[in-house]
Order: sequence, then structure tokens, then C-alpha cells
Amino acid sequence: MLRLHTSASGREITGVVAEVKGEQTVFTGDAVVVSCGAVNSSALLLRSANDKHPRGLANNSSGLVGRNLMKHVLGSLVGVSTLKANPSKFQKTMAINDFYWGEPGYEFPMGSIQLMGKTVIEGLRGYEDKYAPLTIEEVAKNSIDWWLTTEDLPEAKNQVRVEGDQRIIVDYTENNSEPFDRLTERWNGILKEIGCGCHIVPQMNYFTPKSGYFQTKMPMHSLGHQVGTCKFGEDPATSVLDLNCRAHDLDNLYVVDGSFFSFPAAQ
Ligand SMILES: Cc1cc2nc3c(=O)[nH]c(=O)nc-3n(C[C@H](O)[C@H](O)[C@H](O)COP(=O)(O)OP(=O)(O)OC[C@H]3O[C@@H](n4cnc5c(N)ncnc54)[C@H](O)[C@@H]3O)c2cc1C
Repeated sequence: MLRLHTSASGREITGVVAEVKGEQTVFTGDAVVVSCGAVNSSALLLRSANDKHPRGLANNSSGLVGRNLMKHVLGSLVGVSTLKANPSKFQKTMAINDFYWGEPGYEFPMGSIQLMGKTVIEGLRGYEDKYAPLTIEEVAKNSIDWWLTTEDLPEAKNQVRVEGDQRIIVDYTENNSEPFDRLTERWNGILKEIGCGCHIVPQMNYFTPKSGYFQTKMPMHSLGHQVGTCKFGEDPATSVLDLNCRAHDLDNLYVVDGSFFSFPAAQ
């Protein structure tokens, strides 16, 4: 989809412009359902601005299309047991939510911990020095790999913008880092406490030495969990979509992907 057209009143979508085999084609229908993901759906609405919707479609009442982008604060911890091998083939089988709502002395949600796909030796070649004194064979054989997810918070300044038809700009500054750091430290401590003999080592290219272990945090281009750019709600002044994901400002436009979330949760 390249662009949406509206009726003269601006209340209905009358055409969906798409590129099909290199040709632009206009589709019509009684209802139009957009589901391009939080970045691309908001970009489509912004790019489709017209006289009746000068700030972008569905954006007259709230000005929130593209805003409140969230993507989770994400990272991995790779523990390597010195006690035994981990021969799991299908490792992604367990999630731990004990710290989801915080912990004694810390009342804020910290997020969730889950197993992630198993480290394989092919992904370690070339990083031998980072794992020393362990060999990469030991790491691949004995690793127990964890994925940590913490909520980020909705902020209007974290937003998707467009420049012309081709360019999408994403402004995002991470917030809510403290609970993620706390969750990371807590989990690292528990792995040590339960005597699994873990060394926490960096995975992939991104790592931050911290408190004697390595934390791998997903960088900005990891936007796999994008939500929030067309949030839903009852009030047209503070939300883009109604509770059925229909645009407040257009009668036949629905947005049904991750855009409608007003908060990301952390599962
Ligand atoms: C590597 C990775 C691992 C993940 N693991 C998990 C997991 O274990 N558990 C979990 O819950 N979630 C996971 N997620 C997140 C999950 O995949 C997303 O939250 C979910 O797919 C978002 O759904 P969506 O409908 O919002 O967007 P998408 O699934 O991204 O769908 C958008 C679709 O729109 C298409 N599109 C984009 N622009 C246009 C356009 N202009 N015109 C027409 N079509 C367009 C795209 O090609 C795409 O097919 C993972 C994501 C990634 C990247």
C-alpha cells in the first residue's frame, strides 16, 4: 500500500493505492483495514495527508498518529554452565514472571525472563577472544540462553515521521532502562546462586561489560516489538482509534496491528 484517498468530506476512505507488479492500482471497498505494523501503518496514514487531514489521516483530533512508539527494552544473557552440557534442541520452553511486578524493595515492573534459541558454534566463530578463557566449543555445548524483556513507556516524542513518499524517520530515545538493568543484575545473581556455574558472556556483536558480567542489549534497529503509534481509547482527543480499532476521524478505516497498543506489556 502506498497511499489512501478519502471522500471530499474526509470521512471515508475511497481508495487504496497499491503497487502491483510495478503498476499503481487503486482498490476500493466498504471497509479498509490497515495492518502494516506500527511503523509502516502510521507512516501510511501520515503519508496520505490531504486537505481534510493536513497532519495525516486519522490525525485531526489527537495529533497522535506515529507518536508513542514503543519497542520494549530487550536483551539477552548467555550463561555457560561449567557443570554440564545443554543438549536442548528446542530450548524456548520456559518463561519466568516472578519479577514482572517488581520485587521486595522495588515496586515497579521489571519485566519477564524467558529461554531463547540456543547458541550454536557457527555464530561464535570470529569472537573467540570475547569468550576466553572459555573456548567457543565449551560455550556452544554448555550455554543456557536467556531473553529479558522490560516495558518501555509511551512518550509522544518517540515517534514515526515521514518525509515525502519515500523516507520514514524514527525518533526514539530509550526510557525505563533502570528496571531492565535491575532485572539483568537480579537474574545474573540467581544464576550464580543456584550453582549452575554460569559465566555470562557476550552474544553477537553488542555487549557492555558491567559489574563483572556481560549484558547484550538490543540496539535501535531491533524494532521487532514495535507498538503504540495509533493508540486506541475512548477519547478522540487522546487516542487515534476507538475501542474497536476504528479511526475516530474516519468511518471506514481500521488499524489492527501492534499500533493500537497504548502500553507494551513485557511478555
Ligand atoms: C526476530 C523476531 C522474533 C520475534 N519473536 C517473538 C516471540 O517469540 N513472541 C512474540 O510474541 N513476538 C515476537 N516477535 C514480535 C512479533 O513478531 C510482532 O510483535 C508481530 O509480528 C507484530 O505484528 P503486526 O501485525 O503489528 O506487524 P507485522 O507482523 O510486522 O505485519 C506487518 C505486515 O505488513 C507488511 N507491510 C508493511 N508495510 C506495508 C505497506 N506499506 N503495504 C502493505 N504491506 C505492508 C509487512 O510486510 C508485514 O507482512 C518477534 C519479532 C521478531 C522480528
